[in-house]
Amino acid sequence: MTIASRIATIRQQLPDSVRLIAVTKQVPTDAIREAYDAGIRDFGESKVQETAEKQSQLQDLPGINWHLIGHLQANKAAKALEQFQWIHSLDNLKLATRLDRLAGELSCSPQVCLQVKILPDPDKYGWTIPELLADLPELNRCQHLKIQGLMTIPPLGLDDSQILEFFNTTRQLADQIQQQNFAHIHMEQLSMGMSGDYHLAIQAGATMIRLGQTLFGSRRG
Ligand SMILES: *Cc1c(COP(=O)(O)O)cnc(C)c1O
Repeated sequence: MTIASRIATIRQQLPDSVRLIAVTKQVPTDAIREAYDAGIRDFGESKVQETAEKQSQLQDLPGINWHLIGHLQANKAAKALEQFQWIHSLDNLKLATRLDRLAGELSCSPQVCLQVKILPDPDKYGWTIPELLADLPELNRCQHLKIQGLMTIPPLGLDDSQILEFFNTTRQLADQIQQQNFAHIHMEQLSMGMSGDYHLAIQAGATMIRLGQTLFGSRRG
């Protein structure tokens, strides 16, 4: 199947409320062009440097939204602000305050999601639920950031019903935060769902799904 036909097949399954982000880490720029020609305008990348190289080769393609979905190191925060319209992987308060200060200096206002760990997971970054609830007042002071919602990734080894419960808990956390009516924290977006579990994420209310392998084929390593 071509990339275009895979994209068309996925699109037919998606409700209008769900934004499809094509994850292009390790994907060469000719495949990114194919996805662009098939109508994709949202691309997800996990590394700042890899993205910079691709962006320089894709300058002729207007209207792309770049989404950072991988952990951001503090020393790359300024670069990330220049390259990405969305940062899904904002995963701690220190990084949030740094991004906020830099966004003020650069006069930009990135859209961000707060990455949460709904279950303990030593392999992932992100706030635990109690940590996030405790940090909300300070996050609300990050007025250059447009905090739009939550991002999460389930740990490996869960079955479908556990994954669904995991995503439902994420949605309930977003609802709980929304009810606190912070002026600068909005919970309109739920970035959850990858190639193996996006059906479950959509069932639980995902608004942005991040698909790599199901569009571009399997990655090395
Ligand atoms: C790689 C990655 C994806 C895409 O995963 P696939 O299984 O290829 O769909 C989505 N989200 C994050 C955070 C990723 O790192």
